[in-house]
Amino acid sequence: MLEQKEILEIFRETKVIREGHFRLTSGRHSRVVMQCAQVLQYPKFTERLCEDLARRFKGLELHAVIAPAIGGIIVAYEVAKILGIRALFTEREDGKMTLKRGFILEEDENVLVVEDVIKTGGSVFEVMDVVREHGANVCGVGILVDRSGGKVHFGAKKEALYTTEVETWEPEHCPLCHEEVPFSTRR
Ligand SMILES: [Zn+2]
Repeated sequence: MLEQKEILEIFRETKVIREGHFRLTSGRHSRVVMQCAQVLQYPKFTERLCEDLARRFKGLELHAVIAPAIGGIIVAYEVAKILGIRALFTEREDGKMTLKRGFILEEDENVLVVEDVIKTGGSVFEVMDVVREHGANVCGVGILVDRSGGKVHFGAKKEALYTTEVETWEPEHCPLCHEEVPFSTRR
């Protein structure tokens, strides 16, 4: 299993996590910005993370891994590869999450839902609904980064490689502004 330290190292190296003094699009300031998709550029790191995530669900008798498009597709593929099962993804049609492209979940199949990053877990909940509409079972939820600080629960076994909650401030309350730390660029 990867140590928390190693996971953080991968996220820093691949610029998933950047530290500095940032002006967010919301107008608030923060010490950290995160872009989870950055790591998915590197198959070597993606494989290592997904291998670790897959291992946490090894005891379950799973038939398929499913993720919401787009962020989760690569994660689903890598986790499914390691578990030796199918990888599917859902996508929105007129705003509603659906299983398209002829993908099928059989009744009573055991399914693992994965996603690259969650904040409120909204997309994951929608995918769980899709799985259940097909009569299949949600046996777990695997996430690379849980940005809810661990507050979101799915009513199924949940594993996140990294859990965090990024602190943000209104400019007038920003400690970095107070220390006159220069702003970092967003890229
Ligand atoms: Zn500031």
